[in-house]
Amino acid sequence: SATPATLSAISNGAKNGVLFKGGAAMEALSTMDILYSDKTGTITLGEFKVISYEANEDVLKEVVYMEQQSSHPIADAIVSAFNDIDLNRVDQTEEIEEIAGSGMKKGAIYVGKPSAFADYEDPHHYRSKLSAGYTTVFVGKEHQIVGYFSLSDQVRPESAPAIAGFQDEKIKVVLLTGDNEMTAKKVAEEVNIDTYAASCSPEDKIKYVLDSQKQKKVVGMIGDGINDAPALANADIGIAMGSGSSVAMESADVVIVKNNLAKLFYSFKLSKKLNRIIL
Ligand code: ADP
Ligand code: MG
Repeated sequence: SATPATLSAISNGAKNGVLFKGGAAMEALSTMDILYSDKTGTITLGEFKVISYEANEDVLKEVVYMEQQSSHPIADAIVSAFNDIDLNRVDQTEEIEEIAGSGMKKGAIYVGKPSAFADYEDPHHYRSKLSAGYTTVFVGKEHQIVGYFSLSDQVRPESAPAIAGFQDEKIKVVLLTGDNEMTAKKVAEEVNIDTYAASCSPEDKIKYVLDSQKQKKVVGMIGDGINDAPALANADIGIAMGSGSSVAMESADVVIVKNNLAKLFYSFKLSKKLNRIIL
């Protein structure tokens, strides 16, 4: 069981908005060699706005209907951008499936990440809509891309300083995102992360964690989504954002209640001080 010094560090962390589920996570945090971080909702606010789109009325209705079933921040943005649309004529008997870290499926229609449409025809040239700085999702129907949505998001103000803090402590910070290459690169540059991987599936995220562990590294992973949950569970220190999905919080050892990465860095320093006392 935890020492009094560890319990006191945990209580200090909690007062500062970071909840540790046990003494082991508090003690391990400052021994971390590498910190993998998700992008959307973790380094960025995850508060998307639709800034452009193309889709005919029927496709648009299907997409809004499907996204009503998803808790992804992209889904929330699409649903609220078209909240006055009439969904009466949508076939509501067809089953909807959420594919974590990829998109939503209903019958022959799929909405999700561009890399899922690699072998689709693109008669309207929607691939040309991909650009740095925006997150774009495609709508596909019967092997054709029939619509797109481009959305903007913003880096959280605390991200860059907190990441710099970890880097100064010689912790390697690596960005792992399901988003596309251009947007991954732009966000990585904005927060000074020199290593990133784009178009990651939930399985890819786990693989990065396990590979580092095989190299005897103590691995931290921070994320907010359903897609991050398996990697959070496998990391030595899994850290979830308080705004995240409940499965991410259940899989993590640490929860950042108000999503403030500066508070995580404060907890790191508590952990470091603690290890000077107990080691
Ligand atoms: P990140 O790893 O950056 O948090 P996610 O893994 O949550 O991103 O999502 C990866 C990509 O999958 C998104 O950029 C988007 O293209 C697509 N995606 C995921 N969920 C949805 C959804 N509900 N609707 C549309 N696209 C989605
Ligand atoms: Mg995320």
